[in-house]
Amino acid sequence: MRKIEPILDVKNLYTRFYTESGVVEALDGVNFDVGYGEPVGIVGESGCGKTVTSHSVLRILPKNGRILQPPSEIYYKGVNLLDLTDEQMRHVRGKEAAMIFQDPMTSLNPIFKISDQMVEVIQLHRKVNKNEARDIAIEMMEAVGIPDSAERIDNYPHQFSGGMRQRILIARALALQPSLLIADEPTTALDVTIQAQVLEIIKEMQKQFGLALMLITHNLGVVAEITKRVHIFYGGRVVESGPTEEIFVNPFHPYTRALFDSIPSLEQDKTRLETIPGTVPQLINPPQGCRFHPRCKYATEICRMARPPDVWVTETRRVQCHHWEELDLTIDKEKVKEVRRSTVSVEGV
Ligand code: SF4
Repeated sequence: MRKIEPILDVKNLYTRFYTESGVVEALDGVNFDVGYGEPVGIVGESGCGKTVTSHSVLRILPKNGRILQPPSEIYYKGVNLLDLTDEQMRHVRGKEAAMIFQDPMTSLNPIFKISDQMVEVIQLHRKVNKNEARDIAIEMMEAVGIPDSAERIDNYPHQFSGGMRQRILIARALALQPSLLIADEPTTALDVTIQAQVLEIIKEMQKQFGLALMLITHNLGVVAEITKRVHIFYGGRVVESGPTEEIFVNPFHPYTRALFDSIPSLEQDKTRLETIPGTVPQLINPPQGCRFHPRCKYATEICRMARPPDVWVTETRRVQCHHWEELDLTIDKEKVKEVRRSTVSVEGV
């Protein structure tokens, strides 16, 4: 087993949504952890369970969502969050574990000044008076690169660009001094030119404040740039985990390898992009056995019949595949370089 001390340790997480069409098995025994001060990537296509995982951790699921207990456990600093009262969870959210969402506009109230929205939240979670809270807010806005923060703090959200609004949300999250930052596709709603700047800020802040970071993304280039470890999600399960450096050279799971193959190469003389055949599984009625089997070129009978077990291959590498030992999925060096440079997401591959 691996030896890193986790700040967040998710074990056997099963999350279900009860809909008129049936029960959606959104998370099906998810296991992963994030170490103290460690930047970790959560990667996979849309609908694979990345966002549901973060919402389950913070217990902000919609009314029709339920975490099955037992066997689910979500340990944060050694405490099972599923045992906490709603009041205790309110303290965890923001003060302990802060989240940055995809669309900065929906997280800011357009009718209130930034100062109102930051100062109130800071006062709610830290023992400071209004003036001190305002000073903290200005300091954090400066830290994330908002010019003239002392004046601009009294502007309204619409007076900022999308990139600046996302910086404000990062500043607001960090002002609470969380130990864990969950960033859910934080650049999806932004212009490509702004995305790199916002990611650079997240990277800088993670280092500066020694934050544990759970970065949810479709973009393998971003994962390479920011994270030390990565968990690959597919069909509501974690199919592979390990150090980013190692997985980028030698993945053990066919889905991970297929994600790399779907990144276009500048060297390739191809008019069509590689895609993973088939579509992401419907989680109301998911495939039996390995959920990737309908799309996997290595699938055999056992893959169709039995769920692959979680196997610790080394102290730091874990995989869910019946055939990982027989497969050589090594990625060539040039391809690795391409992926590192890439800004292409794996969305919808
Ligand atoms: Fe493919 Fe079988 Fe491995 Fe699933 S268990 S990824 S179907 S080889």
